[in-house]
Amino acid sequence: MYPQIIIDLNKVEENSKIILEKTKAVGIKPCAVTKVTCADIEVAKTLLESGFEELADSRIENIKKLKSHFDNKVKTLLLRIPMISQAKEVVQYCDTSLNSEIETIKALDKAASDLGKKHNIILMVDLGDLREGIWPSSIEKVQEELRKLGNINVLGLGVNLTCYGGVIPTEEKLEELLELKANWEHKGMPLKVVSGGNSSTINMVLEGKIPTGINHLRLGESLLLGRETIDRGHIPNTHLDAFVLVAEIVEIKEKPSLPIGTIGQDAFGNSPVFQDRGVHKRAIVAIGRQDVDLNLEPIDERIEILGGSSDHIILDVTAIPTLKVGDKVEFIPGYGSLLQAMTSPYVKKVYKHSK
Ligand SMILES: *Cc1c(COP(=O)(O)O)cnc(C)c1O
Repeated sequence: MYPQIIIDLNKVEENSKIILEKTKAVGIKPCAVTKVTCADIEVAKTLLESGFEELADSRIENIKKLKSHFDNKVKTLLLRIPMISQAKEVVQYCDTSLNSEIETIKALDKAASDLGKKHNIILMVDLGDLREGIWPSSIEKVQEELRKLGNINVLGLGVNLTCYGGVIPTEEKLEELLELKANWEHKGMPLKVVSGGNSSTINMVLEGKIPTGINHLRLGESLLLGRETIDRGHIPNTHLDAFVLVAEIVEIKEKPSLPIGTIGQDAFGNSPVFQDRGVHKRAIVAIGRQDVDLNLEPIDERIEILGGSSDHIILDVTAIPTLKVGDKVEFIPGYGSLLQAMTSPYVKKVYKHSK
């Protein structure tokens, strides 16, 4: 059945071990982020067997699936700021959640009290990327509010960078986080965790620039796709092809490269622009924007992606005269494509052990 995504579990394992070795060397115990695989159980199992002790996801549904599959033995972290309407489930299924709203934390405290549990939170601080997090100037006020909550355990402070604003983690940014932690602790509330970001912080780990005191990271893309997320550079010795997408050619023909007729909008409301390459060989593969976001790299470098619609991707395959209808084309998915392919019910998941 095609399209399919081939998941090489040995490569996931080798990537995990490399990342864990690098982070351990600088005193960091990262969690593995499962959201880009839609909390795939085989991948999660591999991450745990490779040495990760905590799995993180942005969706409560995924965390529930992980908790029930691994018999509550896995430690879970909820990445997205919780909805108040899900407070009870958050306390039930997540050992820890990232938070930035006092009203929500109060709802978690109430839910924890009702369930006779304690709930751990990591308080997110916004250091300028402008996605989630409390503003540093309001941290003292929040601390005083949190002090009153009997069922909330403030595990630490965290930051998220390079997600919305594209702000790069630097020594200054992380020192700022450590300073906020020191000020917090001066008021008699010790913190165990300083969570220094996502895969965009991995460069600082590799370059030995991570300030002492940062002891947690939340890593998804770097360990699954082998790339840091500032320039998408290859992390040395990791596999870039732990995930490979395979699609089947349903049409292959010589056609002009410029549409013939008056040009309106394409299927997604854009006004397309075309480059005249003369008559060339074009292939259509049976996969589309319903399954991927077109950020795909054909493994055969002679293939070029021209565009796509909901269910079709159009390729220039002029350089491979032998290709025919029914042949399969392989791609390395980018982050968005992997996320979509793992979530799409139309993409078959195939597990492989390269060893
Ligand atoms: C998705 C996410 C991560 C993981 O990001 P990667 O770039 O895949 O490492 C970390 N933290 C938060 C809050 C996230 O939402």
